[in-house]
Amino acid sequence: MEAKHNLLIVEDEKAISNLIATTLETQGYHYEKASNGTQALLEITSHTPEIVLLDLGLPDMDGIEIIKKVRTWSSIPIIVISARTEDTDKIEALDAGADDYLTKPFSVEELLARLRSTLRRLSYMRSESGQESTVFENGGLRIDFAEAEASMEGKPLHLSPIEYKLLCELARNVGKVLTHQYLISRVWEHADASDISSLRVYMATLRKKIEPDKENPVYIQTRVGIGYKMNRL
Ligand code: CA
Repeated sequence: MEAKHNLLIVEDEKAISNLIATTLETQGYHYEKASNGTQALLEITSHTPEIVLLDLGLPDMDGIEIIKKVRTWSSIPIIVISARTEDTDKIEALDAGADDYLTKPFSVEELLARLRSTLRRLSYMRSESGQESTVFENGGLRIDFAEAEASMEGKPLHLSPIEYKLLCELARNVGKVLTHQYLISRVWEHADASDISSLRVYMATLRKKIEPDKENPVYIQTRVGIGYKMNRL
């Protein structure tokens, strides 16, 4: 039987907190609850949950502050659950170090899908911990960082330097949503916001080269208005 994962639900609205708790229970996850930021930080330090589900609008502090605080000493996955529909809030949360986000109202299926994706990332991080890996493998994708070579299903990929950089950045952060601005800053030396259109172009050509089914991409997911994420297959 699969190990039961321990999660922390940080949410001040009882109805939502209970909905999440019920969903986790049906899947056999263990969880703790916190209804404000102070409690959340205490739970994270004392019980070290595996994943934090974090509401941004808390009575005593902004969820973004919690992400920033936690990131000074921990890389624990944080999934933001937010009623804020503005992309800027999600981008701020991701740039502060959140792994992923859900917008309220969300479906139970969406929540579980994000959890599974984050757990796959977590198990990957654990298997990689402590060792500087020179080879990355994900489904049919293989990247040899030392040789600066990438292949798909054993066939070499012919990528431009920028496509390769983008692919490496997504791979090194597999399972994590990366914002446009973050990717631009990693790929171009002197970047500005207008580079989003160039980023889109390079991302489109990269995907054409790596996705087996162009209509249903499995490796790289688009988050409209936010950025991209590589799925752990
Ligand atoms: Ca709230």
